[in-house]
Amino acid sequence: MPVAALTAEWNCTRCGTTNRKLVPLADARTTDRCMHCGARHTIEPDARRVRWVARQD
Ligand SMILES: [Zn+2]
Repeated sequence: MPVAALTAEWNCTRCGTTNRKLVPLADARTTDRCMHCGARHTIEPDARRVRWVARQD
């Protein structure tokens, strides 16, 4: 069964909370909100595509 999505893990740059978001494999970048403080971030996969790099919008 093909994997259509992966779990992106990213750290909030404001409060440090680890967030997780299910992202379609085709997406090279997405946006998400911190579940703890609500800060909106743009997240991009790093080389391993597990831990994503986040920057606050
Ligand atoms: Zn946060």
